[in-house]
Amino acid sequence: MGINSLFFPIKRFICVYFLCNSFVSIGSSPNDGDSSEVTWTGSWQQGGLLLGQLDRGYRAFYKGFPLQETKTGQILLGLGRDADGMVNVDFLDSSGKKTTRSWEVEKREYKVQYIEGVRQDRVIPPESVSSRIGEEAQQVRNARALRSSSEAFLRGFDLPLVGPITGVYGSSRIYNGLPRSPHYGIDYAAPLGSDVKAPGSGVVTLVHDDMYFSGGTLIIDHGMGLSSTFLHLSSILVHVGDSVKLGQVIAAVGATGRATGPHLDWRMNWRDERIDPQLVLLALPAKKIGLP
Ligand SMILES: [Zn+2]
Repeated sequence: MGINSLFFPIKRFICVYFLCNSFVSIGSSPNDGDSSEVTWTGSWQQGGLLLGQLDRGYRAFYKGFPLQETKTGQILLGLGRDADGMVNVDFLDSSGKKTTRSWEVEKREYKVQYIEGVRQDRVIPPESVSSRIGEEAQQVRNARALRSSSEAFLRGFDLPLVGPITGVYGSSRIYNGLPRSPHYGIDYAAPLGSDVKAPGSGVVTLVHDDMYFSGGTLIIDHGMGLSSTFLHLSSILVHVGDSVKLGQVIAAVGATGRATGPHLDWRMNWRDERIDPQLVLLALPAKKIGLP
């Protein structure tokens, strides 16, 4: 969250929620065409998530590994921020015959966001914290590396809180004038202590009170490589191993770690790919009726 964005939270909010077709389009790709092996729902944009329904008897492979399937033959595929060119998926039919299909990734333009007033030691960390930073990054990687067969993501996703959006997926970030890694989450400004609700059902895989960059940090596994991470929390109300339901209050908004004010930063991963939570909300909207 930055000074520049503080002045225009309402404008950004409107942009994201009411004019979203202008920069988040679903299904408009000329190549979203289904093949005889699979039917896709979702976005081929960079940062997109796709839910595929396999035709009976097919198995899918991506980058050489088999894609996990639900009991009814659904698969997930996530595209990174800088995914480029064609996505190739191999399909094997029940006789073992292989077919490769390709879909083109749609490029996006990412904004540059300038953020001032960040504690300088969170922009240029002192040598004394380098091992701490490394250990914390490893804990996050371990949590995201879990490959549960849960189908919790099929219940869909909803907002973790309602608030002005002050940061979006993909933007390049300049902290105190220094370029740093891009932003991979959505930032929602909200008063300190505001409820954070689980945007989707799943199991808690990481709880940390105070990571160097991300402060109070929580990770939820939604199944089949899909996870949510919540940053800068002031308190966390769940424990590792807890099952959480969509809409359940799981934490409180804070300003811990590298934050300039209270906000929630919500990120999503599919396996090692960082994907855009806003595209997940569109691809897998919460099912209001018939929740299992
Ligand atoms: Zn953020």
